[in-house]
Amino acid sequence: MAYTSWLQCVRGCDAKYSIFDVIYRCEKCGGLLDVEHDVNALTETSAADWRAQLEQRMLAQQWPLNSGVWNKKEWVCPQIDVENIVSLGEGNSPLQPAFQFGESIGIPQLWVKQCGTTHTGSFKDLGMTALVSVVNHMMKQGSNIQAVACASTGDTSAALAAYGAAAGMPTIVFLPKGKISTAQLVQPIAHGALVLALDTDFDGCMKIVQEVTADQSIYLANSMNSLRIEGQKTVGMEIVQQMGWSVPDWIVIPAGNLGNVSALGKGLLLLQKLGLIDKLPRIACAQAKHANPLYLSFKTDYTEYKPVQAKKTLASAIQIGAPVSYERAVKALKSFDGIVEQASEDELANIAAQADRTGLYACPQTAVAMSAMKKLVDNGIIQRDQRVVVISTAHGLKFSGFKVNYHDRNLPDVSPLHANPPVELPADVDTVKKAIAQRFN
Ligand SMILES: *Cc1c(COP(=O)(O)O)cnc(C)c1O
Ligand SMILES: [Zn+2]
Repeated sequence: MAYTSWLQCVRGCDAKYSIFDVIYRCEKCGGLLDVEHDVNALTETSAADWRAQLEQRMLAQQWPLNSGVWNKKEWVCPQIDVENIVSLGEGNSPLQPAFQFGESIGIPQLWVKQCGTTHTGSFKDLGMTALVSVVNHMMKQGSNIQAVACASTGDTSAALAAYGAAAGMPTIVFLPKGKISTAQLVQPIAHGALVLALDTDFDGCMKIVQEVTADQSIYLANSMNSLRIEGQKTVGMEIVQQMGWSVPDWIVIPAGNLGNVSALGKGLLLLQKLGLIDKLPRIACAQAKHANPLYLSFKTDYTEYKPVQAKKTLASAIQIGAPVSYERAVKALKSFDGIVEQASEDELANIAAQADRTGLYACPQTAVAMSAMKKLVDNGIIQRDQRVVVISTAHGLKFSGFKVNYHDRNLPDVSPLHANPPVELPADVDTVKKAIAQRFN
């Protein structure tokens, strides 16, 4: 069966483009482009047969079709040759039961989708494997793309640099100087990317990368490029599969540039069209109070929207004031009876520590989602008997500075409720025994 996909304007213009065209916006109206699939062809295969194929590919462990993205190749990117796929084993991340943490905030049926347990430590791998594979395919076919570039709050550049290096493809990353974690900065450096640390914020980097990539020889890897969305849309598909093809009541997700929440919605809608699920979850989208343009728009029922000047936040990966995928996200949220909540610095830092006490290790962005979730539980919007999945977007180890400063009581605007600094003692048994007794008596 030959499946196909193409690019089409999100605002409904009828112009279509090839997924191999170097184009990021509709030529008629300037709207973003989405990848559309030939759903009629896809529905010729039954839901049971799709399920069986997925399970067979996961069992067969045949690289790269065992990846959580590429075991869904027909739904993601049917047109590229398997030998051009650039995979680093992305996806198939655990859906970890978090019943103890859930109980502590009033929702005992809580799971965490651990997207950070992947090669570069964030969900950005899901989208980057799709984009870099398509570019690899284009280069193999003789395209004159010289390099791939992105602006980043840290994790996109880490993923681009890793996948680019794996493909032998030059990469350029634009980072807001001093505004990302050390772990995130060192990843593209290690992978040999040209790392440009600019004296601006993410939104400033985004403007510059769009101008630089107006030159067709430098390909744009930000999520305004819908190929990223195609890979990222597998996250909700995995959640449903991991719950035995049943749909949770809620999925909670942190959001910055708004590509990921759009992708989550897109994947679940496709599953519904293919007959693999018969209902949809509600989506709760979470923003940092210091970077909350979607939250403010939601409060007006999306009748008003204006970018904000994002303020410094511990959730640095979502410190974005002018999200590129605003329109896509609103469309997704409307289809999923969605809701938007926000979290302050104090709230996100304390809930991360509370979650960590139950064995999780929440990154600050995931903590924004956890805090929003707790507010929705407190307001009675999420109910005690409901099944909830919170998406963890990155590994906590990428944000050691955040953790260290919290436990050192060294974070501005945060009163740490769970600080657990190391106890410094002389190497003396009696003093040590006293300290142990003090803690556990
Ligand atoms: C990129 C990122 C986000 C936000 O995703 P968007 O698609 O920009 O909304 C959230 N958390 C982490 C850790 C990220 O790297
Ligand atoms: Zn258009």
